[in-house]
Amino acid sequence: MSEDNNIGFFEFVSSASNEGFRYVNYETGYVIASKKFRELLGIKSGDEGNDMKVLEAIYPEDLEKFKDALQTALGKRKQNFEAEYRVGDGSRWILHNVTNRYDKEGNVVERFCFFHDITEEKKKQADLEYVAYFDPDTGVYNRNYFIKRLDKALKKNQKSEFNKIQVMYINIDNYNVVTDSIGFETGDELLINFAKLLTEYSSSRIKIGRFKNDEFAIAIYDADNENEIIDIYNDISKKIEKPFKMSDGNEVYISISVGITTYPKDGNDASDLIKCADIAMYNVKKSGKNSMCLFEKSMLDEFIKNVKMENDLKVAVEKLDFVLNYQPQYYSEKKELRGVEALVRWKIDENQYVNPGEFIPMAEKNGCILNIGKWVIKQALDDFVDWKMNYGYNGMISINISAIQLKDEGFLNYVLESVEERNVVPSDVEIEITESVLIENFSKTRKILEELRRYGFKVALDDFGTGYSSLSYLKNIPIDTLKIDKSFVDNMLLDNSTGIITDALIKMVKKLGLETIAEGVETKEQYDCLKKMNCDNIQGFLLGKPMTSGDMKELITKLNESYK
Ligand code: C2E
Ligand code: CA
Ligand code: CA
Repeated sequence: MSEDNNIGFFEFVSSASNEGFRYVNYETGYVIASKKFRELLGIKSGDEGNDMKVLEAIYPEDLEKFKDALQTALGKRKQNFEAEYRVGDGSRWILHNVTNRYDKEGNVVERFCFFHDITEEKKKQADLEYVAYFDPDTGVYNRNYFIKRLDKALKKNQKSEFNKIQVMYINIDNYNVVTDSIGFETGDELLINFAKLLTEYSSSRIKIGRFKNDEFAIAIYDADNENEIIDIYNDISKKIEKPFKMSDGNEVYISISVGITTYPKDGNDASDLIKCADIAMYNVKKSGKNSMCLFEKSMLDEFIKNVKMENDLKVAVEKLDFVLNYQPQYYSEKKELRGVEALVRWKIDENQYVNPGEFIPMAEKNGCILNIGKWVIKQALDDFVDWKMNYGYNGMISINISAIQLKDEGFLNYVLESVEERNVVPSDVEIEITESVLIENFSKTRKILEELRRYGFKVALDDFGTGYSSLSYLKNIPIDTLKIDKSFVDNMLLDNSTGIITDALIKMVKKLGLETIAEGVETKEQYDCLKKMNCDNIQGFLLGKPMTSGDMKELITKLNESYK
């Protein structure tokens, strides 16, 4: 390119261009630069040709990187190269685009440079990165980035010392209950304050992340010692003994459940370490919260077993792989059949059944109980109708109903339709509920129970004596029958005060007009004692274990024969 011909063009570009432009011819000393170039780099008129001034304009932290890039480009005689750096006080970003022309010896003869102000783009990129890496509410790492960084640390550590990487999974206990009482806004503020507390531990080797609403994690990439993570847990626990002071004046106390894993003992990659710490945390939840637990392999086995069981249960619900057993209840006076209680079993195969105690809690947690419960109601009523029509059965049928079912909007209609379809008289059907049902939502539950009774159904309170067992509310709840829990029956003959309480309880309950059933009666002595206490009905292995519908038919036939 001949200089003379192009000077006009450069000057034109230089004056018109809104981007920084600078041309230097090192052979002739010819320099031309745009006003914008001077503005962007803060260079005075007359200094445009001075390369040192350009370097001085670069923010000190970025200077070395730029020099390196320039040297590399020159070394390779590159015609074009680009670099980004900050200028001035570091608040402006420049994209510097260079084109060099070399002579045979490799010296730069001509240099064209363009300077773009990319501050806005950088800001947008930083915002995007923030969203991609950080939790917007608390400013700690988000889940993805926490995992990514931990994986990176693990890769780096793979060949070095063991036990240096430790992970803590944290869940705030009863966070939902806390927010119910302090409100959502204060609840959010609590999470922010808690995250702030965790951030105090943050450093180049300790990172904090937020996983879910009230679930956080801490990773140590290079622990000082085996117990560093436990020390941090102890420290946090001490700090949260004091309440969090909220801006609305509230003081909020929290406790946390924590699970801990260590690399490589508990896992080889980030997601394994976190998953296992989560499982250990869950173990703390199960055993009463407010503590920490080091992960052990057996917890994973248990977890896997549960996951498998949960999957199997879902399949069983689809295929309705359940059976009902029936346990007879007898009038204590006449030893005649008062009714039967339907008890569900999950049928694995002809010889293998799972007891409800093992799968009902899981079914309640994942909602399967709604479908299981519907099947139980239908099946129990079908069997009941069969016995009544074909075997002369004239007792009652008791059906266990879980709290989840009772809360379900369609429950009442379902029960009503089910009895109507089969022409069953509601007074032959007893609905068994437990105290937990009442405690959770007293007024709503009360309404449903009242409705049920209005249609003629009987309502029994199950397992009385195991939970809250407040005598005072007995007079306020719409029930017909009280089932005295096996724990009373077991102990009334062994321990004098339980005997006195059981006796008093039966007397009082009868005065309230309720019918009584003693559960889990296993011995003749217990039977005699309860009969003496005027307990109305007896249920238990002594008089009959839960049995199939077929066995029930035989029992009904046999009993009817004996009554003749
Ligand atoms: P539950 O309602 O208290 O039922 C009585 C449980 O005690 C039954 O256990 C029964 O087999 C057992 N049992 C009865 N008499 C004796 C005895 O003399 N000695 C001993 N050791 N045990 C006795 P099962 O069938 O394993 O049921 C356990 C629990 O599962 C039931 O306790 C009930 O809460 C729940 N359940 C059973 N069927 C259903 C159902 O269809 N729906 C719902 N929601 N829960 C059910
Ligand atoms: Ca029951
Ligand atoms: Ca019971």
